[in-house]
Amino acid sequence: MRVAVVTDIHANLPALEAVLDALAPFDSLWVLGDIVGYGPYPDEVVARLRKERAVAVRGNHDAAVLGDIDTDVFNDDARSAVEWTAERIGTTARHWLEGLPETRIEGDFTLAHGSPRDPIWEYLVSVPIARRNFAHLETPHGMVGHTHVPLVFREGSGRIETIAPKDGSTLTLDERRCLINPGGVGQPRDGDPRACAMTLDTETGLLTWHRIPYPVERIQQRMRRQGLPPRLSERLSYGL
Ligand code: ZN
Repeated sequence: MRVAVVTDIHANLPALEAVLDALAPFDSLWVLGDIVGYGPYPDEVVARLRKERAVAVRGNHDAAVLGDIDTDVFNDDARSAVEWTAERIGTTARHWLEGLPETRIEGDFTLAHGSPRDPIWEYLVSVPIARRNFAHLETPHGMVGHTHVPLVFREGSGRIETIAPKDGSTLTLDERRCLINPGGVGQPRDGDPRACAMTLDTETGLLTWHRIPYPVERIQQRMRRQGLPPRLSERLSYGL
């Protein structure tokens, strides 16, 4: 089975469409949360994911839009984008988001937004945090988003190594356990403005990372017209 794995779409429809076009054909679509928040297309993005029968978990921005978590810890721009989304999102999209769990297990993989042990909040950014999450993980591997940066922690013989995938990077899974971040679709933060996503071949264990250009100006124009914070649209030009 060929799986397309995406995360942190953040209501960026042009980026999602470019990614799905580039990764097609795939048998299944896994989505690691932060489907909405920041961007101007929440309903359109959810409609596309429903059409693709996406297997998804919720992220902190999704939970904030639904009113399930407090936005006090969000910065001002993030909070105003959450409020903008909560006021406009349609009932169908809201219900679909409400049905999403915080974690789910698909074959050998635990899917979560932040981390397997703290799916809404924790950023999986260091070896000590990865170590605690390997101890918590009930499947051989985990997949997470939240940082918007592609990254793998691989555990073997008691040691954990860090791998930073680039465009076209591949990794074949073996007996060593991995915590895998496919990188962000709708708001990359590693200095490359192209959308980032990953494919998985479940038969061979082959992971491949892809950088996919999309019309950034299209979403920036729409964000300006909708009155979303200028900083949120400007950063899309730089991937930061
Ligand atoms: Zn995010």
